[in-house]
Amino acid sequence: MKIYWTKISDIIEESPDTKTYLIDCPEEYTWEEGAHIHLGLEGFNAGDKPDKSLVRHMSISTLPDEDKIGITTRIREQRSDFKHRLDELTAGSPVAIFKTHSNVPLKREDKPVYLLSSGVGIATFRPLVLDYLSNPDKIEKIHSLNIDSTKNYLFKDIFETLPEKGLTSQFVDNRKHYYEEVQKLAQDEEGLFYVVGSDAFLLENLAVLRGQGVSPEQIMLDKHEHRKQEFFL
Ligand SMILES: Cc1cc2nc3c(=O)[nH]c(=O)nc-3n(C[C@H](O)[C@H](O)[C@H](O)COP(=O)(O)OP(=O)(O)OC[C@H]3O[C@@H](n4cnc5c(N)ncnc54)[C@H](O)[C@@H]3O)c2cc1C
Repeated sequence: MKIYWTKISDIIEESPDTKTYLIDCPEEYTWEEGAHIHLGLEGFNAGDKPDKSLVRHMSISTLPDEDKIGITTRIREQRSDFKHRLDELTAGSPVAIFKTHSNVPLKREDKPVYLLSSGVGIATFRPLVLDYLSNPDKIEKIHSLNIDSTKNYLFKDIFETLPEKGLTSQFVDNRKHYYEEVQKLAQDEEGLFYVVGSDAFLLENLAVLRGQGVSPEQIMLDKHEHRKQEFFL
């Protein structure tokens, strides 16, 4: 396993409790849309065993042609030690990235794609939408539905409604409205449904989608294949 030590180049305040960290891209490092990394903070591998409290999975919210590895995360008042340390980092601080993998690359199967996310989960989909906008080949259309009770909706400049480009986007602030919309979207028998959020959120979405007759093959979760199966039991 290769560990890349690199540096934070910039920190963007997306909303009062959400930040995007732009990280210098190591030479020859690349990734697919939908990829996640392990993000390690200084000291995570200083001892005999890796200190897991200093490591988190993070989706990459950028594409390689943006030249930076972006990770977007919420840092609330009540926060883990990891988020506390992350919040203290500044441009120039070292971070480690390793084990890059995408569970949710964009499927180009001439079908409509639905991106269902909760809160900061929309960050996983940002590169999918950018990839689609630069090359819509074999994708009928993309619709994004995001729920965020804080109403601090993220990446509104990218998650726009552009009918001429086959992109539509909806942000809602409550569960009732959200699941009403999911029910409607699930009517599309051809649809591919990507879901990103907490495990509880995934289970709720699966119940609604499966209840409407959507098959497991039409549903993409940001989980390794063996973990994904557990959600369909
Ligand atoms: C494939 C994959 C991709 C992921 N991508 C992302 C991503 O792009 N962005 C992202 O943010 N996360 C992502 N995650 C989740 C991420 O790895 C972390 O699990 C998540 O951000 C929570 O971080 P944390 O454990 O440091 O807790 P925190 O975010 O600090 O806290 C989690 C919750 O617990 C509460 N809490 C924490 N400490 C306390 C306390 N002492 N007292 C009371 N309440 C407390 C917080 O308020 C918050 O509601 C991903 C996970 C996977 C598996």
